Amino acid sequence: MSCETGPAVVDPTLRRRIEPHEFTVFFDPTQLRKETCLLYEIRWGGRHRIWRHTGQNTNKHVEINFIEKITSERYFHPSTRCSITWFSSWSPCADCSKAIKEFLRQHPNVTLFIYVARLYYHVDQQNRQGLRDLVSSGVIIQIMTEQEYSYCWKNFVNYPPSSEVNWPRYPNLWMKLYILELYCIILGLPPCLKILRRHQHEPPYFTLTLQYCHYQRIPPYIFWATGLI
Ligand SMILES: [Zn+2]
Repeated sequence: MSCETGPAVVDPTLRRRIEPHEFTVFFDPTQLRKETCLLYEIRWGGRHRIWRHTGQNTNKHVEINFIEKITSERYFHPSTRCSITWFSSWSPCADCSKAIKEFLRQHPNVTLFIYVARLYYHVDQQNRQGLRDLVSSGVIIQIMTEQEYSYCWKNFVNYPPSSEVNWPRYPNLWMKLYILELYCIILGLPPCLKILRRHQHEPPYFTLTLQYCHYQRIPPYIFWATGLI
């Protein structure tokens, strides 16, 4: 792939790529865009083949669309061995977490990694429990950082010529805040991050309220990384 020309025209994934402006707005961790965008890749066991595709929510959440699509493919069986990686603009809601857990139960040879740009209604106890249940089922959930934004830009975005390295640089602070809150969720601690918005068209802002239990259980470097403590 040449950085002079954008994604190679022979790239078989080209028609499945999203446009740069779509990536930029969907995955911005500082915004609360309603729709969800899912970029995913499937690595098939032993064959070194990677499939990449993208999806958005319709009248169903994007996670459900993914499960319905993949399980309807004739090559996909309960014994299929593969590794799936999602890059999603929002973390799964409680209902989707249940569906993902059931999908993994029925397909025990599938491993799932989920990178998310933002945590979906993360103070909701059911959403928090859903994410914990996924972790208990073996799903690796992480917040997208610069490394994942760069990877997605190069592999899922129809970036313009000479722009291979021009992925959007979002403020690190929001990624660190979400990393901190994801720690709270996984450890079963109360939320410390609140995201608020005064008016619909104004950017959100946050408050951070740390309790003794947070200081006790969360590794200090996670706090320090935010630069706020
Ligand atoms: Zn959902």
